[in-house]
Amino acid sequence: MTAVLHPDTLAVHAGRSDLESLGVHALPIDLSTTNPLPDIERGGDSYEAMATGGRPPADGSMVYARLWNPTVARFEEALAELEHAEASVAFASGMAAMTAVILAHGPATGKHHVVAVRPLYGGTDHLLGSGLLGIETTYCHPEQVASSIRSDTGLVVVETPANPTLDIADIAAVVAQAGGVPVVVDNTFATPVLQNPIDLGAAMSLHSATKYLGGHGDVIAGVVACSEQTAEALRRVRAVTGGLLHPLGAYLLHRGLTTLPVRMRAQQESARRIVQWLIDRPEVAEVFYPGLDGDPRGILERQMRGTGAMIAMRMRGGYAAASAVTSATELFTHAVSLGGVDSLIQHPAALTHRPVPPEARPAADVLRLSIGLENADDLIADLARAFAAAPALERELREAR
Ligand SMILES: *Cc1c(COP(=O)(O)O)cnc(C)c1O
Repeated sequence: MTAVLHPDTLAVHAGRSDLESLGVHALPIDLSTTNPLPDIERGGDSYEAMATGGRPPADGSMVYARLWNPTVARFEEALAELEHAEASVAFASGMAAMTAVILAHGPATGKHHVVAVRPLYGGTDHLLGSGLLGIETTYCHPEQVASSIRSDTGLVVVETPANPTLDIADIAAVVAQAGGVPVVVDNTFATPVLQNPIDLGAAMSLHSATKYLGGHGDVIAGVVACSEQTAEALRRVRAVTGGLLHPLGAYLLHRGLTTLPVRMRAQQESARRIVQWLIDRPEVAEVFYPGLDGDPRGILERQMRGTGAMIAMRMRGGYAAASAVTSATELFTHAVSLGGVDSLIQHPAALTHRPVPPEARPAADVLRLSIGLENADDLIADLARAFAAAPALERELREAR
């Protein structure tokens, strides 16, 4: 196809170019763990090509599923197109993807330092500070990236909108400050529907595909969109360390991509209505949602095509009120994770951000909402009911009067 296609069309058609020649319409699921070798020579050459991060040679073999799988490769091709990238590499989870990114840009290249912009997803913050991967991490604010770079810095990590308080970082400004050090943007909250970090100069756009890309709460996966050269380094880590995405997961993710633009728009529309409702509620001390401050620096305008479907809020009545609300909702499931068709509510300080050191951990009165595809009026009614059922909130409001 020659015309430049809209994202909605790409989401339905990308990564399917070989289906016609296979004589099928729906995505095939290739489950072979091993694959026939034409002869020792070409088998060995194929192994060598893929173990070092390349693709299977045309006259060779895929050899072994830790090196290559066609179902996974089709999903990777589709995600790369949506992210305006040359390639993408899929992993067993978002954390396996982040681990591969760090390994490929850290010790493997003689670099032992990473600059990480906070806030970050709790697991990422924890991984970077864990000492498990042989790197040292400097955590900083977006304006401090340039002053945090050292001669041995191999990677800059930034997440925007960030988990859980939806902080927005200026991707192009972070890239400029990084001064040639590759920047990975965790694009999980925005998805390629709302933001394409590679267009803004980032080297990599990383997703916990577990969230919006899968969209149905039934696959754990991660994926990194990047240049073909970076993809080779990441595939090498994947082949050697084995953090693979199973083809059944890749199938579900590729299928999920077809509805991603529609889901994002519908979930975002409900989220905006719920934000407007929350702002006026006396039980809520503060609402966190991109653009509520009016975008004074024009960052949203420059880098996003929408504000997404994640909301955070500070409850009056502190931890007790937050705890009561999570137990009282009925449509909102009290559970970690996000980005699915059903709405979730959770307490970041106790759960997703538990491993984060206290000084960087979200406050105890913060709750995070992931808005799904339910009717927004029903979700608002559920929150109203839960607020009314929280005794700590009632006490606080009475005392305030
Ligand atoms: C969930 C999440 C991750 C980790 O992904 P997993 O698939 O759970 O390993 C990373 N970044 C963000 C922003 C997330 O929400």
